[in-house]
Amino acid sequence: MHIILMGPPGAGKGTQAEMLAKEYAIPHVSTGDIFRNAIKEGTEMGLKAKEYMDKGALVPDEVVVGIVKERLQMPDCAGGVLLDGFPRTLEQAEVLDEVLQELKMQIDAVINVEVAEDELVARLTGRRVCQKCNTTYHVKNNPPKVRNICDHCGGELYQRSDDTVETVKERLAVYNTQTMPIIDYYKRKGNYLSVDGSQPIDKVSEEIVEKLKQIKE
Ligand code: ADP
Ligand code: AMP
Repeated sequence: MHIILMGPPGAGKGTQAEMLAKEYAIPHVSTGDIFRNAIKEGTEMGLKAKEYMDKGALVPDEVVVGIVKERLQMPDCAGGVLLDGFPRTLEQAEVLDEVLQELKMQIDAVINVEVAEDELVARLTGRRVCQKCNTTYHVKNNPPKVRNICDHCGGELYQRSDDTVETVKERLAVYNTQTMPIIDYYKRKGNYLSVDGSQPIDKVSEEIVEKLKQIKE
């Protein structure tokens, strides 16, 4: 299975990715996670990406595309992959098509998780993430069993520096202008699925799995 998970910031892509990666035994490739790990490690690429991320802007296409291309060539992606947060611009979508062709890979489904904007702000400002394993929680909607501690690995939770009201508003504006146009691009190509992301987490998962089954039939 080669899947692209789309949707605005806060739609629940990372949350659903955890389920999907298990269900289909494919690696979860999140460009946001790749950048945050690079920032943690203090690499040059991380420092460059941070400048853009802190403002709520997109990291330039030429940086992102190279990273994804390299990642797709790693052995664990041979049997499939779940792309989360990429592509985010029309140029990224077009380059991805070229890379997939080169690597003889095909996208089986593009899943667009749809949620209204006011709900997104509440989700993002209440989001907490495990610093060790990147599992995502929400202070109200999806809290860990023990406050601030990850259920899976015991790591401490933190609030992303770009999950402030101001930066969230900028990220949503960037999504509307730069990322929204690629929805039409994928609608035209086929295997496009829209999912109601405003439902509870397990209902969203059910809808995704059900719609993916229909595609595979
Ligand atoms: P994205 O990866 O699309 O930015 P996340 O998966 O990180 O989004 O989810 C954003 C926040 O919303 C997190 O705090 C998460 O726990 C919460 N969340 C995810 N899905 C739902 C849902 N269906 N209902 C309520 N809250 C959700
Ligand atoms: P995310 O974790 O998907 O919310 O992404 C966090 C931030 O990382 C974004 O606001 C961007 O600054 C950057 N980023 C992640 N993916 C991409 C991408 N495909 N293109 C450009 N910037 C990205």
